[in-house]
Amino acid sequence: MTFRRPLIAANWKMNGNRELVQATATMLQSIDCPHEILICPPVIFLADFPKSTKYCLGAQNTSSEKAGPFTGEISADMIRAVGAEYVILGHSERRSLYGETDATVLQKAQQAIAAGVTPIICFGETLSERQQEKTMWVLAQHLDAVYAAHPDLLARSVIAYEPVWAIGTGLTATPEQAQQVHAFIRQHLARIDQQAAAQVRILYGGSVNAENWQTLFSQPDIDGALVGGASLKPAEFAAICQMA
Ligand code: PEP
Repeated sequence: MTFRRPLIAANWKMNGNRELVQATATMLQSIDCPHEILICPPVIFLADFPKSTKYCLGAQNTSSEKAGPFTGEISADMIRAVGAEYVILGHSERRSLYGETDATVLQKAQQAIAAGVTPIICFGETLSERQQEKTMWVLAQHLDAVYAAHPDLLARSVIAYEPVWAIGTGLTATPEQAQQVHAFIRQHLARIDQQAAAQVRILYGGSVNAENWQTLFSQPDIDGALVGGASLKPAEFAAICQMA
């Protein structure tokens, strides 16, 4: 049986301030947690986090280019230089609001890996795709666009299954629904690289909170969480991190 160390990741989106940095760092410093804990604040706050063995840091986006005349962009080397070990890529908000495609995500993932930053690549179906029973087909298309095209990325990335209809809505996939999709993702990826598919961590994201996390986390193919809203409340995020 393959051991996959759980990863509990906070996605602050465009929220937070220095007080929240302080409160989160202090809270995480005071707890004992066997899982890997990751905070992805807006990049401007990365350098404000005290160095700690209790958590690591990540960004929510990075450029698809290495360097050059790309006003407003921040490169993977730059986020690495301010402490990011991970970067969230292909979040549904980036896809729907900023037109990111699997091709963009792939380019960004390659930049991240070249800079020594692990991409957390997000995939998920919309409500209408689920209602039309297209969930697995949609996921297979996304997964193939990234991993069948570049199998080497699989051993170097983390996957987040985030049903679009569950993000920020208060609706959560049931543990059974989530497990079914996570297991599908792993089986699908096994056709590309069996060993890497067994080892890749697949996080669940979509309205995770301290009440629903325990049952989701008890599913065999759910290796951690990508937490949005609840990560802005340090005590609740700490409670999620501590669940076994
Ligand atoms: C997210 O931003 O990735 C997310 C899952 O948000 P929330 O937990 O608020 O649904």
